[in-house]
Amino acid sequence: MGLDILMVWHAFMLNPRNYLEDCIRFGLRNLWATGMPWPAVNTAIDTSFNYAVPKDAMDDFSGMTGLSWNNVDDLMTKVLYCPRCTHKLDIPWTTCGTDKKSSPEE
Ligand SMILES: [Zn+2]
Repeated sequence: MGLDILMVWHAFMLNPRNYLEDCIRFGLRNLWATGMPWPAVNTAIDTSFNYAVPKDAMDDFSGMTGLSWNNVDDLMTKVLYCPRCTHKLDIPWTTCGTDKKSSPEE
C-alpha cells in the first residue's frame, strides 16, 4: 500500500462521522475496526518524515492522472465547460492573494 493512499485514508478517518457512515453504508465493519497501519507508514518515510518516491512511481502517477507529482507544478486553473453553452472556461483554483473579486455576472 502506497503512502499516498494511506494519507487519503487518514484524511477520511479524521472525519469520523462521515467515515463511520460510509463504513456502515458499504458494509465495511472490519475497515471501521482497523487501525492505521503504522508499520506501512514507517517503512514509507524516512526519519525526517520525508516520503521519498522513485522517479518511476512519479512518472506512473503523472501518466495515470495527467497531473504533476508536485501539485505546485500543475496549472493554476481548472478547465470547465459552461453547462449552458459548453464554452470552455479556465477557472482559477483560488483567487486568494489576487485583486480578483467575483461578480454576479461571472
Ligand atoms: Zn455559457
